[in-house]
Amino acid sequence: MTDGRVKESIAPCGLCCETCFAHVDGDIRRYSLKLKEKLGNFDMYAQRFETLLDDPIFGKYPAFKEMLDYFASENCKGCRNEQCKLFKGCGVRPCHQDKQIDFCYQCDEFPCGKTNFDPGLYKGWVMINERIREMGIEHYCEAARNRSRYP
Ligand code: SF4
Ligand code: SF4
Repeated sequence: MTDGRVKESIAPCGLCCETCFAHVDGDIRRYSLKLKEKLGNFDMYAQRFETLLDDPIFGKYPAFKEMLDYFASENCKGCRNEQCKLFKGCGVRPCHQDKQIDFCYQCDEFPCGKTNFDPGLYKGWVMINERIREMGIEHYCEAARNRSRYP
């Protein structure tokens, strides 16, 4: 039986929901909220600094803020709790529920043709699940939590 925290972090396909930019409790959203709080009304200051420091980088602040607002507003509860917001056609989520298994690497059909992944994602999915088999889900989870989802 897999530890509940591991299942909350790692989706049935093996990808780490916890490090996804869209996860409501992920570091990317948490730090974005914190950065927004720390920046306060930097909009006004960015305009002033552009002139004062004669540096056009501050003119890019509105685009940066838009992205930051986006990261801060994302709110997916993870694949175990709701449909993936990034990949709505994912075949793994309904399939693992039907088969009542926690992860694809545990499945006797792996690697199957039910994922609906494109070739790049499919290749990654196979690699990830083979790695989980080698290192064990607990160690994989620990490593996945501590690295970028976007290496
Ligand atoms: S279910 Fe999809 S959108 Fe939600 S956290 Fe996991 S990977 Fe990200
Ligand atoms: S059949 Fe495929 S998608 Fe479904 S649980 Fe098994 S490996 Fe995963």
